[in-house]
Amino acid sequence: MRVAQLGSGTPEIAVVAGIHGDEPCGVRAVQRLLDERPTVERPVKLVVANEEALERQVRFVDEDLNRAFPGDPDATTHEGQLAHELVAELEDCLTFSMHSTQSHGDPFAIVKGVDETAREIVPQLPVAAMVETSNFAEGRLFSAIETVEVECGLQGSDTAAENADRLTRSFLTAVGVLPGDTVRRELPVYRLTDVIRKEQAETYEVFVDNFTEVEAGSPFAAADGDKQIAEESFYPVLMSPNGYQDVFGYTAEKLDVLETAATAD
Ligand SMILES: [Zn+2]
Repeated sequence: MRVAQLGSGTPEIAVVAGIHGDEPCGVRAVQRLLDERPTVERPVKLVVANEEALERQVRFVDEDLNRAFPGDPDATTHEGQLAHELVAELEDCLTFSMHSTQSHGDPFAIVKGVDETAREIVPQLPVAAMVETSNFAEGRLFSAIETVEVECGLQGSDTAAENADRLTRSFLTAVGVLPGDTVRRELPVYRLTDVIRKEQAETYEVFVDNFTEVEAGSPFAAADGDKQIAEESFYPVLMSPNGYQDVFGYTAEKLDVLETAATAD
């Protein structure tokens, strides 16, 4: 783990990259901040989390770090120990954590709950949606630390790295680390409701677009040509043929739309 700081004093804000070693976009955004060293109005901690996995260009060394929180100093896995160290490092910080996917190009935010912080910060980020994951928070960073996660784009793409940079700057502006103003946008809010499992197969297909409602009775994915049909309508989130080992993605329900007027200062 690499930890750096911009500004002096004890940071209450942190930016975390590289929770997953095969998602380099956030690391580039952090590196750029370290290179440019912008003047900050309050201190911020910058963390590159899983350096070992990043070096090997793998998601994790022993286990998924974003399922290993709060971790344990005596854990037998690299990520179990790292999770514990990361929690100690981030304990008093509102944390911004960057990911990328094999599923969806447009950035969106993931939060544990739609609380005051989420309602205040997320509409100021250049994201297309906010996803609430309270049913699936176990082991994730935001189960241990107050965190706004963002999916920056497609894994390994330059666009994801550029998005990571824009998202980080918007976040740091929204929380008063960087000077300036942000734009508030209307934001649809979704809640994850279920995991869509997939059977072992040679080939996988996904027929639907994330955040676009799937009607009951429609085929939405297939394993070796065997189609899965929606029993009831849902919004797909993080769907991809090969992004995860044993799931296609998640079903979600649409909660509401955060209006700009309702949240403006
Ligand atoms: Zn990730």
